[in-house]
Amino acid sequence: GSGKSTVARCLMNIYQPAQGEIWYKDVNICDKKEFKKYKKMLQTRRQMIFQDSASSLNQKMRVSDIITEPMRIQHITPPRGSFVKEAAFQMEYVGLENSFLDRYPSELSGGQRQRVAIARSLCMEPEFLVADEPIASLDVSIQAQIVNLLLDLREQKSLTYLLISHDLSMVRHLSDRILVMYLGEVVEESTAQELYTHPLHPYTKALIAAIPIPDPKVERARPRSVLQGQVPSPVDPPPGCRFAGRCPYATDRCRAEKPELCDMGGGHRVACHLCR
Ligand code: SF4
Repeated sequence: GSGKSTVARCLMNIYQPAQGEIWYKDVNICDKKEFKKYKKMLQTRRQMIFQDSASSLNQKMRVSDIITEPMRIQHITPPRGSFVKEAAFQMEYVGLENSFLDRYPSELSGGQRQRVAIARSLCMEPEFLVADEPIASLDVSIQAQIVNLLLDLREQKSLTYLLISHDLSMVRHLSDRILVMYLGEVVEESTAQELYTHPLHPYTKALIAAIPIPDPKVERARPRSVLQGQVPSPVDPPPGCRFAGRCPYATDRCRAEKPELCDMGGGHRVACHLCR
């Protein structure tokens, strides 16, 4: 409920934001006239991988048609001669055999479906990929394969990702910069290295403290710090700091005055009265 997927959908023009602007390559994509003018560029360069591959793939279409559907919609001639050849090429990139070309999504495993979803996004030769919880619906054994695939593709195709996740271990593994959101607002922004070694916001600290340690003895022995209190309704957020109801350091000022994002140096920004 922090608004991660909503931001992603705004970035992809699936939702129109109620306020503010989003700029992509000098184009204000929230401006309808500008969006219309650059629609083709925006709809090819930006692609999205959805969380649930079972519902994001059309169950009545074959894999080859799913992968090349964006090209058909945008009237793009397949560079490799035919749509089937194009689908086979993209499948090779994501580690799927050609024997899957004529299958339907219901005949695939969760990991295979997610690979098809990634291949579909790659067929437009994007430069910016929004991946919304790309491994959340997968078995743990498959998650590492998809994360490694995303890493390889980033290098091979010089892609920029906006990765949305609540899996902090994966975020650390894949990200250069991280934004932490709470109840619809960014509360901290930093490089991945800085955020994990010097978190400043109490919410970020609590999140990082909750990452499991893969050693049962150490994990059992470490002190627990569980956030108390309820998450307020995003429809009717409290005045002041939205985290105040759960923050162990909250003061009267926090409940009355909203903290702004402040630059703490080196691009590390935080919204907390304690950090000023
Ligand atoms: Fe906690 Fe106050 Fe900082 Fe909010 S502004 S995170 S309530 S210390």
